[in-house]
Amino acid sequence: MKLPLLSLLSLTVCASAAGPPRIAVMQLRHETVTFLPNETTREDFIYPGSPAKGEALLKTQPKGDMGGFVKVAREYGAVLAGIESPGMPETGIGSGWVTRDAYEHFTGRMIEELKAQGPFDGVYLALHGAMAVRGIARPEAELARRVREVVGPKAVIAGTFDPHGNEDAEFLKHADLAFAYKYYPHYDAHLQGERAARMMIRAIRGDYRPAHAVRTVPILSATVYQWTGQHPWSTLVQRCLTWEAREPDVYVNFFYSFPWADVPDAGMCFQVITNGDAALAKTVADDLADTAWRMRAEMFSATPIHPVAEAVGQVKKALEQSRAPVVLADYSDRSGNATWVLREVIAQDLAKVVIATIKDDRALNALARAGAKQGDSFDMDVGGYVDESAGQPVRVKGVIEHLSGDGKGGVKAARIRFGRGNLLMLSPQLVQYMDPQSIRKDGVDITQFEVFAIKSRVHFRRGFDDNGFAKTILLVEPPGPFMGTVHLDALRYENLRVSEFYPFSEK
Ligand SMILES: [Zn+2]
Repeated sequence: MKLPLLSLLSLTVCASAAGPPRIAVMQLRHETVTFLPNETTREDFIYPGSPAKGEALLKTQPKGDMGGFVKVAREYGAVLAGIESPGMPETGIGSGWVTRDAYEHFTGRMIEELKAQGPFDGVYLALHGAMAVRGIARPEAELARRVREVVGPKAVIAGTFDPHGNEDAEFLKHADLAFAYKYYPHYDAHLQGERAARMMIRAIRGDYRPAHAVRTVPILSATVYQWTGQHPWSTLVQRCLTWEAREPDVYVNFFYSFPWADVPDAGMCFQVITNGDAALAKTVADDLADTAWRMRAEMFSATPIHPVAEAVGQVKKALEQSRAPVVLADYSDRSGNATWVLREVIAQDLAKVVIATIKDDRALNALARAGAKQGDSFDMDVGGYVDESAGQPVRVKGVIEHLSGDGKGGVKAARIRFGRGNLLMLSPQLVQYMDPQSIRKDGVDITQFEVFAIKSRVHFRRGFDDNGFAKTILLVEPPGPFMGTVHLDALRYENLRVSEFYPFSEK
């Protein structure tokens, strides 16, 4: 509700006073890695299930923010209209700048449908926050602005966000409410969706009058550092929760930021929403921003990162000391094609390793062309061809354990036995395994392996660490400051100055 104070006081019932609140639901999400060469196009958002509208849209992500929102909004008797919206692009986090065409196409259709189906008492936007669109500096805030133009000042606009969102004060200039997941891995998406629904209904009824304060903090961190399972990240999350607990109706968003989107609002940010108490909102935002700034050095020192060769050496030690299973997580591989760990596993003759995975559509196509089948010998170069950061192709000699067909005569995945009880998984795309069960689901008997070489920064902690599975966890980085590096000052930003952000400001 963007209202002058006087009209705020008189607003006690929803626009459709006679009936239940009518709420439009839409989504627009991407975590854009602007340093990738391939743009994210309109076509990337179009696949079976996307775009979706009506009940199909409302049923996407039942365990996510959308599911939480829909569940609670309906508990309050709201009538929901699923506005045609795209899902995450099929490229996932493997594509760069979203084209202006894609943004205008999908938001244009949303706005038209919003007009056609209105009026609405509220609009829910399921967002991510790290979308980067050519020519639009703050795409989520811009969407909120366009929605506001349609629904007018009385309607309540609420968004849910991923904490990797690059956000500042702009979204809340056009929207009333924002709720970001607090944990990384992101355990609480459903909860934040539930909150968004409940607070939107209260705001529609005039029982909650959002007052905001926003503080940005000049800290820019690679996502590998941002695990909220350890200090100081866990301490900051706890402090947000404490503020929410001690003051009724206070909501805090802690955006850690996503540094691989070269956008002007990248960097850490706290948003605080209170029930009409702007001074309290400012107190809380200042406290959190100042606390984060005091802890800035620990944010980076809490997670050691090892060069690949040293890490593989440490794996050997861990195995000698019975500290298995071991996770070797290559945090920096953004294409999935990198071979640094595979090369070192072979060089140091490590045993019982599953390499999960190397993206290599070339090798998969070659296997298909050759009519390869299970039990055949395998002798090929794999990976290391997408770009410099992927390293060099590595020769692997072994036996084909399994091939999965794509139903059209092609091969969509392969497993190769090699060395001393090792397994190489080949995939057509970057695969980020978040738990051992998913590797098992893909056909691997995980009990045969002591070392899990995966490609993930933090999300793997969900299933390999936070549940006690792995006894040893090593994060590794390749030799160069490639894209995906923690050395953000080695990247060519155009829309923000890395030298203005800690820790690069102190170099
Ligand atoms: Zn995230």
